[in-house]
Amino acid sequence: MKQFSHFSHRHLLNFTEVEEEDEIICSGCELNLSGSAAYSCTKSNCSFTIHTSCFELPQRIRHRSHPKHPLILLSSPPYSDGEFTCDACGESGVAFTYHCSTCSFDLHVGCASLPESEDCDDHEHSLTLFYSFPKEEQDSIFICDVCHCPVAKNCWIYYCKVCNYGTHLDCVTAQECPDEE
Ligand SMILES: [Zn+2]
Ligand SMILES: [Zn+2]
Ligand SMILES: [Zn+2]
Ligand SMILES: [Zn+2]
Ligand SMILES: [Zn+2]
Ligand SMILES: [Zn+2]
Repeated sequence: MKQFSHFSHRHLLNFTEVEEEDEIICSGCELNLSGSAAYSCTKSNCSFTIHTSCFELPQRIRHRSHPKHPLILLSSPPYSDGEFTCDACGESGVAFTYHCSTCSFDLHVGCASLPESEDCDDHEHSLTLFYSFPKEEQDSIFICDVCHCPVAKNCWIYYCKVCNYGTHLDCVTAQECPDEE
């Protein structure tokens, strides 16, 4: 069987199809792997598994949200506590990050590939991805129109300017926001 190597992992990888009922988290994007094509570690005592799409991520990108510098794909956060805080969604991450060392800027790989516009079931217009708050909202707390929780100030939002309607990144495609812990 053909084996593969990836910069993020020291062992060789095999191509595999993850079963629907297997609850495995991708070692790259930290999202569910159930039912996906993946590469998993050939060592039986190692659980490293990543989506084929995560395997193919470019190691260096230019992102519209951070035009000053290129972002470098790191296999783990460069910080001493082993975590990064995503500058898009505000959540922490422990696996792959698109990182700018000059600015300590980090993006989940999933957040880095979000579409520039999304259709929301609850809204008649498509929503545009904003990398910072629209100017007129700078001084107020912005409440997500889907889950009715505040959106953190420095985070990205999906927004309709015409209606002043906006959502968290993961609320745009969700009917209900998952309960906050
Ligand atoms: Zn992944
Ligand atoms: Zn391994
Ligand atoms: Zn994120
Ligand atoms: Zn930078
Ligand atoms: Zn929300
Ligand atoms: Zn609208």
